[in-house]
Amino acid sequence: MTDISYVQQLRKPTPEDPLRILMSACLAGTACGYDSTANGTYPSALKLLGYDNVSVVRFCPEDYSFGTPREMCDIHGGTGIDVLEGRARVLTDSGIDWTDGMIRESEKMLEVAKNDGIELAVLMDISAACGSQVIYSGNRFAENKVYQIGAGVCAAQLIKNGIKVISQRDYASLELLYAKIDPSHAIDATKIDHHETEWYKSYFGT
Ligand code: SF4
Repeated sequence: MTDISYVQQLRKPTPEDPLRILMSACLAGTACGYDSTANGTYPSALKLLGYDNVSVVRFCPEDYSFGTPREMCDIHGGTGIDVLEGRARVLTDSGIDWTDGMIRESEKMLEVAKNDGIELAVLMDISAACGSQVIYSGNRFAENKVYQIGAGVCAAQLIKNGIKVISQRDYASLELLYAKIDPSHAIDATKIDHHETEWYKSYFGT
């Protein structure tokens, strides 16, 4: 679940002192997805690239450890925090164990965030690395693929170290963020975060 009050309390940035946002590189349009695409187009995140008082740092953790293109991977036996704490593994769809590389890339992402004084991360949900609200439980290509609530390995590393993360689907949080950046932005109060959607509530029974 996102910490919407954190977004509400973010400072008002200026071009001289921009808000420092870490973004999944694919969300910013970099073709770093497993298949050398940008995993689709998400205007909710791309919009953040258009402000002169926002400094976006792009980082693709999986590209850092495994290059592009590469296999798909998912977490088996838990969530990202379980991987970091040794209770779950990351396997590619062909069964190769990527756990160590995923932990390394999460540490690199944290280093980037700290070095750049990141104030908020906007990451691609569902990814075994960048997901923050929902990820797959086990292989996403399984006949009965299963979702779970939780963060991927890199998002979990950031969250564990105090860096707030929202996803491109957290539309209510993003509305608050746009308003913080652009005083002329009128907040659309009908927008909701991912954990408030009907799909999420009915799938997870919350
Ligand atoms: S690891 Fe993150 S930044 Fe890289 S392609 Fe996957 S979701 Fe995008």
